Amino acid sequence: MDPFLEAALDEARVGLADGGISIGSVLVHRGEIIGRGHNRRVQRGSPILHAEMDALENAGRRAAMVYRESVLHTTLSPCAMCRCAIVLYRIPRVIAGESRSFMGEGEWLRDCSVSVEVVQDGDCVALMKAFVRAHPELWNEHIGEEESALRLDPVLWPGTSQETAPPRGRAGTPTPPTPSSGWKPGPAARG
Ligand SMILES: [Zn+2]
Repeated sequence: MDPFLEAALDEARVGLADGGISIGSVLVHRGEIIGRGHNRRVQRGSPILHAEMDALENAGRRAAMVYRESVLHTTLSPCAMCRCAIVLYRIPRVIAGESRSFMGEGEWLRDCSVSVEVVQDGDCVALMKAFVRAHPELWNEHIGEEESALRLDPVLWPGTSQETAPPRGRAGTPTPPTPSSGWKPGPAARG
């Protein structure tokens, strides 16, 4: 595996071990990791600290030219929010571990002249697959969906719509996250 994707996967595993969502990312400039991070929705009670955003945050303030010479490696195809950050800073290249558990915005990025390579790495897929099956409600919360099955590849995830469909509330009633189901909100979420 690409060593930088491996580093992103290490970040994803750190996040998982910390009770969070198993997505990791690293920002690489001229062959050196300048920022690394993982999704901190649970840990920070944050809806915006996706792995890519966390890596950018941890890279700190950088000159425009640094972004334009960088490559963002992420275990999962970037979402709409992260794609905008990639385009904003004109990061020219993205390498994503997989796009089967979340389609992401690869096509849109390509339309914005960003080079996107999705490698469909088995370890990245397996990690997300295990996470979504164990925490469907958290996954749905993360992607802003009521049912994650809408975003899953039916070939890779046969029968998943039944396995991962979250318990539904009454008609018209949003189903809130269930803290008893294995994750705990971070301190910020409690406050
Ligand atoms: Zn994102």
